[in-house]
Amino acid sequence: MEQFHAMELPHYIIVGEKLSDKVVERLRIGGFRNALIITSPTPYRLMASKIESEAHNAIDVEVCVLGEYGKLLNGLESGRYDVVLGVGGGRVIDTAKAVAETVNVPLFSIPTVASHDGIASPMTSIRTGGKAYSRKSVMPSVIIADMSVISLAPRRYAVSGCGDLIAKYSAVRDWWLGHLSSGEYYGRYAAHLAYLSAAVIIKSSRKISRMDLDGVRTIVEALISAGVSMGIAGSSRPCSGSEHLIAHSLEHLMDSPPLHGERCGVATVFTSYLHGSNWRRIAESLRGLGAPSTLNELGVDTDIFTEAVIKAPTIRPERYTVLNRVKLDRKRILDILQETGLA
Ligand SMILES: [Zn+2]
Repeated sequence: MEQFHAMELPHYIIVGEKLSDKVVERLRIGGFRNALIITSPTPYRLMASKIESEAHNAIDVEVCVLGEYGKLLNGLESGRYDVVLGVGGGRVIDTAKAVAETVNVPLFSIPTVASHDGIASPMTSIRTGGKAYSRKSVMPSVIIADMSVISLAPRRYAVSGCGDLIAKYSAVRDWWLGHLSSGEYYGRYAAHLAYLSAAVIIKSSRKISRMDLDGVRTIVEALISAGVSMGIAGSSRPCSGSEHLIAHSLEHLMDSPPLHGERCGVATVFTSYLHGSNWRRIAESLRGLGAPSTLNELGVDTDIFTEAVIKAPTIRPERYTVLNRVKLDRKRILDILQETGLA
């Protein structure tokens, strides 16, 4: 057992509408003078350009539209920026985390889609040689979720965010199994907080599926809360278990995989079956949300999914999950896929 446990938490979170002036206000309050904004074309148009013009004169702002990232890395000097702002989707926020970590300055997370829980977590997903893996980076110190921008994103992204949240239903069970098998740290509070973010989506799936402002806002708040549970746990354990290993495994096996949360949602039906928990309820919630709830709807064929399940435990061998406990061969996986209606 570790001798101490450190928690990293954001210190200011705001969820509301038309918040570009609030971003600049927070920069001013923080005493920042040189901000680097990392963004991509649509988020630039919808949000980052407004921050840039609001900041005019008061704060020196440099904008890097993703795609120019290679160029930016070469010119990256610590001391030149005193804050990094990630304005965009998953790839943008991940990149902003890595840059803030490299130059050792605070990070503002300003999501423009509600598709995953990285918006408020210290985890970043890195792609090298076509393989994605996640590691701990920096926790955003400020999170500003502008609903007037996030609600404009295609419905598919928010539905994917729900899949990433429903995954916590399985992830917290894997964490508990890991604790039982090796005595690894298990934080009851962090586990409950992550579980709550899944429960709220499962319980209100029909209502949320309308994707009105209230529904999308619930998803955003649950994603922030899931990210905070990782900050409390000090790792992604409460939010990422066997279902995420399968989702990552699918990403490795496919050239153009479905969205992260879409993969996680379907994989959660499968891993909930292995856990002996209520997989029917998970499948029903996904259907209620209009999310993919079968392999066919996910656009993944049975062979690929089977392969992904077999390879999943090798992705992070140190992470004990139900996949280490239940021995699965191809035949058994196919039987489960049939029984759960996934295939
Ligand atoms: Zn995830």
